[in-house]
Amino acid sequence: MKIGILSRNAALYSTKRLVEAIESRGHEAKVIDHLKCDIVIEQDKPAIYYKGENLDDLDAVIPRIGASVTFYGTAVVRQFEMMNIFTAVQSQALVRSRDKLRSLQIMASAGVGLPKTVFTNYSKEVDKLIDSVGGAPLIVKLLEGTQGYGVVLAPTKKAAQSIIEAFHSMKARVIVQEFIKESKGADIRAFVVDGKVVGAMKRQGKEGEFRSNLHQGGTGSLIKLTKKEREAALTAAKSMGLPVAGVDMLQSARGPLILEVNSSPGIEGIEKATGKDIAGSVIKYVISKVEAVKAKPTKRRKIKSDA
Ligand code: ADP
Repeated sequence: MKIGILSRNAALYSTKRLVEAIESRGHEAKVIDHLKCDIVIEQDKPAIYYKGENLDDLDAVIPRIGASVTFYGTAVVRQFEMMNIFTAVQSQALVRSRDKLRSLQIMASAGVGLPKTVFTNYSKEVDKLIDSVGGAPLIVKLLEGTQGYGVVLAPTKKAAQSIIEAFHSMKARVIVQEFIKESKGADIRAFVVDGKVVGAMKRQGKEGEFRSNLHQGGTGSLIKLTKKEREAALTAAKSMGLPVAGVDMLQSARGPLILEVNSSPGIEGIEKATGKDIAGSVIKYVISKVEAVKAKPTKRRKIKSDA
């Protein structure tokens, strides 16, 4: 079969590993820069052209869409869905996962443990806002931030007030969150594929840093999850509708608390920390889904889309 990887850079570790995993199983891989795709919208004839070539012979796509190009990237994924091409991540789930507030609302209603979080537009009540998450120290997060940028620890109520007011004056939307100090600058990344945790690592922030992101100098190491942590990861990924996901959580005194669910999780850090073939797990899942669809009678599938 022929599997497309939607990635802006064929030289990235994650992209290269997915290509290797496809080819080592005797299939064909094609790296497609989603920003160079043209979406052709015509009644009953949805198509995508990539550098002039009609992409009508793919069996599946694996979206690796960066946060800065979510709009166009998800439009391309949606078009592949219209063409009845299997996608490892559905466009709707991708869009949902990029909205931190919406994600927290969805996970809260699915019963997932979360740090207490408040979102407000009404900047005059900053004092009450701070009290409602248990006072300082607290965390202020830019809604659109990634890789730890835009996550601020406010040590005192005064500092929290200034930070929130500064963000509001810039018209930046923020969430205010209780600070989980027991996590001691560490978090857990669980890589989920098709209802299983296929690898997990603990990320520890560098000395004096509360953010554990690898981009902020954190280091990853292998960890065995507790049953509760595994269940939290699987429930979070399921509630977000993501069969392939990187689930980030904090270890707290009241159990695992989910921070976010990533729809294009990096493969390098988790493979290096665990020594596991994570790319292989993703590809095995995609191949099994395509084979299952092919085994069914060839009636044209009706497209279900709430897009
Ligand atoms: P991003 O999406 O930018 O990575 P996160 O919400 O994952 O933002 O936060 C980045 C890091 O900051 C986390 O990996 C964690 O180490 C730390 N962190 C985030 N929220 C909290 C919190 N409420 N309490 C303690 N540490 C936190």
